[in-house]
Amino acid sequence: MRKRKRMYRILLMSMTAVFLAVCGMVLNTWLYWNNQKKLQEEQMEKQSGSIRGLAADIASLEVLLESAEDESAALASQMDWEQRLQAELDKQAEDALKLLLEASCDMESLQLKNEQELLRIKQLQRELERKQYEASVAASAEASRQESIAASAEASRQESIAASAEASRQESIAASIEAARPESSAAVVTPPVSGKTVYITFDDGPSYLTEQVLDILDEYGVKATFFVTYQPQYENMYREIVKRGHTIGIHTASHVYKTIYASFDNWLADFRKVYDYVYHVTGVYPMVYRFPGGSTGPHCNSTVINQAIAFLKSIGMEYFDWNAVNGDGGTVTAQQSYEEAIKTTLPRKHPVLLMHDAAGKETTAASLPGILKKLKECGYNFGTLSPQVPPIHQGSQWDY
Ligand SMILES: [Zn+2]
Repeated sequence: MRKRKRMYRILLMSMTAVFLAVCGMVLNTWLYWNNQKKLQEEQMEKQSGSIRGLAADIASLEVLLESAEDESAALASQMDWEQRLQAELDKQAEDALKLLLEASCDMESLQLKNEQELLRIKQLQRELERKQYEASVAASAEASRQESIAASAEASRQESIAASAEASRQESIAASIEAARPESSAAVVTPPVSGKTVYITFDDGPSYLTEQVLDILDEYGVKATFFVTYQPQYENMYREIVKRGHTIGIHTASHVYKTIYASFDNWLADFRKVYDYVYHVTGVYPMVYRFPGGSTGPHCNSTVINQAIAFLKSIGMEYFDWNAVNGDGGTVTAQQSYEEAIKTTLPRKHPVLLMHDAAGKETTAASLPGILKKLKECGYNFGTLSPQVPPIHQGSQWDY
């Protein structure tokens, strides 16, 4: 009995111990979850706090962005203003440079003119001395002159008969040329250009260089006058000269002074050979002419020249010499060609500049861009020759 009582007591105590252990575990678990929940709440509170902080940051960033946009707009307008100011300054600098260039050209031209004036004064002094000498010679020759008067009267009578016969012969040739000219095919006449005008001319072509010269003229938008010779192997170049708007003039068929100037008939045959050929290949009747070697000079026969001039006038043509050169009649380097052209052109208001596009004149083609550029800088207009342009004849209007 006693043993059984003790067993109950042990059982009761064990059950109580188990119960207490279970209660302890439940309490412990409750405390743990309660703690976790608190921690979670705190964390959530922290997170929502930081989200609120982030939203505030974003709002302030937006404000900053807005003000940055405003600043960049202000900066852009400032830059725009500065650019316009810069453009204005550039333009002013360019204008000033242009003025400076023109002024330097004028100075150059003035210096050259002065040098030429000095030369002319020296020439005039020599001329005066020569005239004084001639006057003294003439006085002593007066007596013998009286004797020859009768003889010369007779000679001039004979000459005037011959001259009137010649004049009527020239008239009939001129009339036949005139009659052969259809109205519509006269050369295009360019009116004279006002202001400071340079007339670029090329003699002795066409040749293998002509196309290059034409391309350079195109590049600079310049029209020129070509006094051509008889070169059937470059037939297309005559047409190209006309097609690109340049003026075609007559120079000579053969360029052999001795033959051309031996008589008026020789001159006329030489003239007609190239004149008729140019019309045949281009359909244009040239209106301007240049004497080979010029209208005066050691090669010339003044009787033939005067007859030729009368003939040209009778068919409405004008002849032109030149008053500026690039020196390519001889051998020159491109630099010399440039310098000579500028030196002789700048002192004149209406220079007629002689150059050559004949075979072998490579340095002329090479110097042409520089010459055109400089003349443009110096304010020249570019014209082509026609009977309406005041003529440049050697011996007169040289300084025109
Ligand atoms: Zn020539």
